[in-house]
Amino acid sequence: MTGTLYLVPTPIGNLGDISRRCAETLAAADFIAAEDTRVSLKLLNHLELKKPLVSYHEHNKKESGPRIVERLLAGECCALVTDAGCPAISDPGEDLVRLCAEAGVPVCALPGPCAAITALSVSALPTGRFAFEGFLPAQKKERRARLEGLKQEERTLIFYEAPHHLRGTLADLLAAFGPERPLSLCRELTKLHEEIRRSTLGEAAAYYETNEPRGEYVLVLGGAAPRQAEAVSPERAAELARALIAGGARTKDAVKQIAEQTGVAKNTLYALVVGN
Ligand code: SAM
Repeated sequence: MTGTLYLVPTPIGNLGDISRRCAETLAAADFIAAEDTRVSLKLLNHLELKKPLVSYHEHNKKESGPRIVERLLAGECCALVTDAGCPAISDPGEDLVRLCAEAGVPVCALPGPCAAITALSVSALPTGRFAFEGFLPAQKKERRARLEGLKQEERTLIFYEAPHHLRGTLADLLAAFGPERPLSLCRELTKLHEEIRRSTLGEAAAYYETNEPRGEYVLVLGGAAPRQAEAVSPERAAELARALIAGGARTKDAVKQIAEQTGVAKNTLYALVVGN
């Protein structure tokens, strides 16, 4: 019988955040696929577990992925862990899940820590609708195009960033979205030096001109203000209705359609159209 790939989220800083079910799943797996075996060993030692580990990361995923799938197809169960947080979210776990899906191997995702969701929940920005953007592209051209496409995005935006790129990313965000956009900078979540800095893009960029970025960051950016529907004057609406009538529409139908499109009251529109 085919085995199962278990996606096991691991703490993003505080070892106490490993759930009982995650620990039990790690204990029951035949082997563990880890992004960095040294990092995962610390967690396994904390849980007093000894398990066979295989390495699965960005630079060996093309060879390691199919080998893991082969073992799953042969009936073994594998727990996938990444350095921290939820496997497959902005890390190579995404590719392994796809390989398993293609090969008909069951994948079971356990809930647990995820840096993006932890940051969003504490950001004090709207959480009802959000867009996860992960890491911005490294290449300047692609990065500009990505940001350009996000300028009118009304949902809250979530970005991941490494400390040595933070200043550059803040500068690019500032250029794209302007200084007034609200930004919650979430640093070192769940760790000793956790810090949530709720300000604006302009203030955050100024702060990091004189302060060295340290630790891991999630940037939660407020969305664009909703676009106001352009107000159409009753006279302009009447012109639009007359154009429809000239094209063969019945007066009643034209008035109804334009009133719906523009928000101008039907009676007002009808009086203007018929009166002229
Ligand atoms: N799959 C993981 C998840 O979604 O939780 C994220 C993996 S991604 C390679 C690593 C990025 O997650 C870091 O560069 C940082 O942006 C964010 N991150 C991870 N741990 C964090 C923490 N404790 N505080 C803030 N950001 C963190």
